[in-house]
Amino acid sequence: MNSKDKSKLPLVVIAGGGFGGQQVARKLEDKPVDVLMLDKHNYHTFQPLLYQVAIGSLEADSIAFSLRKNFAGQKNFHFHIAELTKVNPEKNTIETTIGEIAYDYLVIATGSTTNFFGNKNIEHNAMPMKSIPEALNLRSLILQNIEEAVLLKTKEEREPYLNFVLVGAGPTGVELSGALAELRTHILHRDYPELKKDEMRVYLVDVQPRVIASMSEQASKAAHEFLTKMGVEVLLNVKVESYDGSEIKFEDGKSIPTKNVIWSAGVMGVVPDGISKDIIERGNRIRTDNVCRVEGASNIFAIGDVAAIISKETPKGYPGLAQVAIQQGKHVAKTILHLVNSEVTVPFKYSDKGSLATVGRNKAVADLGKLKFQGFFAWLTWMFVHLISLLGFRNKVVVFINWTMSYLTYNGGARLIIRRFVRDGVPQKRELDEK
Ligand SMILES: Cc1cc2nc3c(=O)[nH]c(=O)nc-3n(C[C@H](O)[C@H](O)[C@H](O)COP(=O)(O)OP(=O)(O)OC[C@H]3O[C@@H](n4cnc5c(N)ncnc54)[C@H](O)[C@@H]3O)c2cc1C
Repeated sequence: MNSKDKSKLPLVVIAGGGFGGQQVARKLEDKPVDVLMLDKHNYHTFQPLLYQVAIGSLEADSIAFSLRKNFAGQKNFHFHIAELTKVNPEKNTIETTIGEIAYDYLVIATGSTTNFFGNKNIEHNAMPMKSIPEALNLRSLILQNIEEAVLLKTKEEREPYLNFVLVGAGPTGVELSGALAELRTHILHRDYPELKKDEMRVYLVDVQPRVIASMSEQASKAAHEFLTKMGVEVLLNVKVESYDGSEIKFEDGKSIPTKNVIWSAGVMGVVPDGISKDIIERGNRIRTDNVCRVEGASNIFAIGDVAAIISKETPKGYPGLAQVAIQQGKHVAKTILHLVNSEVTVPFKYSDKGSLATVGRNKAVADLGKLKFQGFFAWLTWMFVHLISLLGFRNKVVVFINWTMSYLTYNGGARLIIRRFVRDGVPQKRELDEK
């Protein structure tokens, strides 16, 4: 396959239609280039709301948006479902699941995936939450395990099914543990009257000394207090040693019996083959220069979670945030146009718009530059920012209605098991007993 032959205009191939990749394509609209976007899915995922899909508060299609639909009408835009597997910089081609494609400019915007830090038993048994299929698996597992608990006779038998352990107290772990605590308080007694509220326990575990360590001490302290009041058991300075699917063990010798371990303790860049190992930074991110160009390449760029601009100010690269990917995407589009027009390029400069994290109803934390606030107004700000950032008018309306219903009734979301989660094709214990 050679998409380059179709046009005499330079072809910009964008691998990944996430926050970063979409900005590149959008900013190249009506410009003298052709754009080909490849993504392994035909939709964009709004990852900040994945946890609400996992908990059953939102349906998956309200946080996803078709990439073809989003770019319908952009004349120089083409899209294929395909996975980038290898870059051949010397030939200016990439290898993909739909064949080899030649490019004039390549933008690697493949984002990141869950990092289990090489621990195979945790990778096999814990649940990640980086994509919609993973969030749906998690939703099924949570609901299946509560259903299973209903059928068991003793408290000891029920315990592992009703213990929820979230590893990683970053925004994802905090948001999901808060949502599980709310499920226990507001939903459990209605949907599962057979179970006692205090039998369901939610643990949030981190090796670091504070929750949401990427935010200010003030935000961290407030989030910790919110969680504790909601009944989440926060275990800090604790390192996970292993998880066999039934019991999670910590390095201090303690353990918790649980069928529900949710891993959000780290991410790593999705780097295709063909990129030199010498320019791979911590977190599997591709080192780029200050215009987001892959080091040593003239026409290959990397942006967002998969990339790192290493400098004195950013010794670890920029944080893995949507805003970084969005701003880098816009910048790379401009840089490509500069190169097409033989103009001088300008360095990327990140404008930090601040961070937000929600813990639950009326509870969020906000660090917006010098302005730091927590509680109800932070929560309103969080909702507003997430609503306006969602792609698609329909999605905004559906999410707004869902949130309003949940707020008024304390009972939002459908909580359906659409397809059972089956690990490695192995049925759960009860299904085996029934055979
Ligand atoms: C649960 C969760 C909550 C988050 N909450 C927040 C938040 O509140 N605020 C915030 O700023 N950030 C948040 N983030 C981080 C934010 O989502 C990322 O920083 C952002 O998505 C990075 O954008 P990106 O364009 O680099 O990658 P992504 O948006 O992840 O896009 C990557 C795209 O590449 C595609 N892809 C992957 N591999 C290939 C391949 N080999 N070939 C082709 N396509 C491929 C994927 O399908 C995807 O569409 C959260 C992340 C998660 C997981």
